[in-house]
Amino acid sequence: MKRIATPSNTKAILAKHGFSMKKKFGQNFLIDQNVLSNIVERAEVGPTTGVIEIGPGIGALTEHLAHNAKKVVAFEIDTTLKPILADTLSHYDNVTIIWQDILEADLDTIYAREFEGCDHVSVVANLPYYITTPILTKLIESRLPFKNLAVMMQKEVAQRLSAKPSTKEYGSLSIAMQLYADVSIMLNVPKNVFIPQPNVDSAVVRLAMLPQPRVELADEAIFFAITRGAFVQRRKTIQNNFNALFQDKEYVVALLETCGVAPQTRAEALDLATFAKIANQVVADGKGEQIR
Ligand code: SAM
Repeated sequence: MKRIATPSNTKAILAKHGFSMKKKFGQNFLIDQNVLSNIVERAEVGPTTGVIEIGPGIGALTEHLAHNAKKVVAFEIDTTLKPILADTLSHYDNVTIIWQDILEADLDTIYAREFEGCDHVSVVANLPYYITTPILTKLIESRLPFKNLAVMMQKEVAQRLSAKPSTKEYGSLSIAMQLYADVSIMLNVPKNVFIPQPNVDSAVVRLAMLPQPRVELADEAIFFAITRGAFVQRRKTIQNNFNALFQDKEYVVALLETCGVAPQTRAEALDLATFAKIANQVVADGKGEQIR
């Protein structure tokens, strides 16, 4: 390995190619080999693993993945990195770079085409933080059979994804992710292991994908409408938030009673199973269409 992720090697590569980082693409490059080895090990990347990486940058994480995995497919939006990656990853024949915005990518086709012979496929990435949620949503909604997602993001977002009920971080994002995965913080990462240093601390989150959603849902879109609606005003009761959502106070009283939820409860106290019960009741009552 070239050990790209050291302060001196990174600076030398950037200087050699006259590259300056672009804030608009969330470019904060890792300069710590220990953090990288840790991520790859804990993400369980091995000789039969296929990996999707988002945003290889100058290849700091990519070289670790290529060294350990069977195949790496990396999506990079910034085409001015082409000559750098051609240089830094020249030793590896198991890396394919797709020069495309990940949010535009046809993941189904790429998954089917690129990972022949791999036992399983995981996503491992130091994400561009400005689009963390859309990327995770896209990956999860693709329903592709990923084993793990091991992704670095802003620490506050990591805490929200992995939050349990009755905490201030718990919300509709926690519920959306925990519907499909066991979510845990794998590693906390300080600011000083990046060039340039971001303003926020980071964490690597592991999403171990479940074979099917955690609860049975009559209609997922209605479930998400319910969870989002429940948290619109966190400090208000579930009854108040649902009154705003349904515009039908009588129905909300009946709904909460049928589901055994006290009207004065706040959304943050309700677990995923209770939200599923409410959403399925709404569908059974024929009230889903008005909130879809
Ligand atoms: N993996 C490198 C590392 O750890 O040093 C770079 C990580 S940097 C936080 C994020 C990377 O994502 C940058 O290389 C950036 O150009 C790329 N990126 C930003 N938006 C993207 C998008 N929509 N699709 C694909 N890559 C993107």
